[in-house]
Amino acid sequence: SPVPDYLDEILRACGDDDGAPADYIPQLAAADPERLAVCVSTVDGHLYASGDADAAYSIQSISKPFVYALALLEHGLDHVLERVGVEPSGEAFDELSLESDSRRPLNPMINAGALTAHALVGEPGDDADARFARIHRLMSDCAGRELDVDEGVCASEMETAYRNLAIANLLRSYDVINQEPLDVVSGYTRQCAVSVTTRDLAMMAATLGSGGRQPMTGKQVLPPEVVRQVLSVMMTCGMYNAAGDWMSTVGFPAKSGVSGGILGVLPGQVGIATFSPRLDAHGNSTRGVRLCTRMSADMGMHIMQAP
Ligand code: GLN
Repeated sequence: SPVPDYLDEILRACGDDDGAPADYIPQLAAADPERLAVCVSTVDGHLYASGDADAAYSIQSISKPFVYALALLEHGLDHVLERVGVEPSGEAFDELSLESDSRRPLNPMINAGALTAHALVGEPGDDADARFARIHRLMSDCAGRELDVDEGVCASEMETAYRNLAIANLLRSYDVINQEPLDVVSGYTRQCAVSVTTRDLAMMAATLGSGGRQPMTGKQVLPPEVVRQVLSVMMTCGMYNAAGDWMSTVGFPAKSGVSGGILGVLPGQVGIATFSPRLDAHGNSTRGVRLCTRMSADMGMHIMQAP
């Protein structure tokens, strides 16, 4: 049948084996670099998959838009904007940087902003477990099933989380966050270690694509105005310092993670997910970028393209 055949074909065509799996998190360096998958889900829940669509991996930075969504849901846009901006940074995801006047992190898709969004979740006295429970609930609701945590990846990342601890300490020193930096980093690291398949990511993408309604369960997980804000920030900041290139060539909002996933959304139409662990210099999956570029061209998915 045409859609599965098409997906099989683009997996064969996305070819080359350039790039390498992330190695700053020891467990990620052990990933099978040949794993490859693509899934597309319509906003009414028809899912098409090809390749290793049921292979599980840690979600990593693709958790960031969902945690930003949760902070917006719980506290409203104005409150969140006081603490995290919406400007593309043009810097690497783990850059130790804040806006010079306000001390806000530039956006919630880089680690400084994602740690801040993580710390915003929940009630003032909440610890890392309480914040994580809320985040886990939302991500599971978007996937339409109960997600697990990859404890091995979580422990492995904590062992070498020097840079995220440095960022969290900087945020604490400027009172951008008011919790213990270690507590925030450990909750954030757990959020990044939530285990997903490419099918899950496509369902999570389709939930964003349908204005916050999970296509299979029918649950309105997020309000449309929160989703609009999240997709806007994904559009400008989701692919780190390759965001401008991505916008002009691929042209739909997306978020990548260092384990090799990419989640993309064509609002009102489809959720897309790709997986391949080898990364380019920006930390985006090389084959994933190629797959998304190809799908965008073949199916006319660039949102700036007049019909
Ligand atoms: N957990 C990773 C980190 O904070 C996520 C980074 C990513 O996926 N780009 O370094």
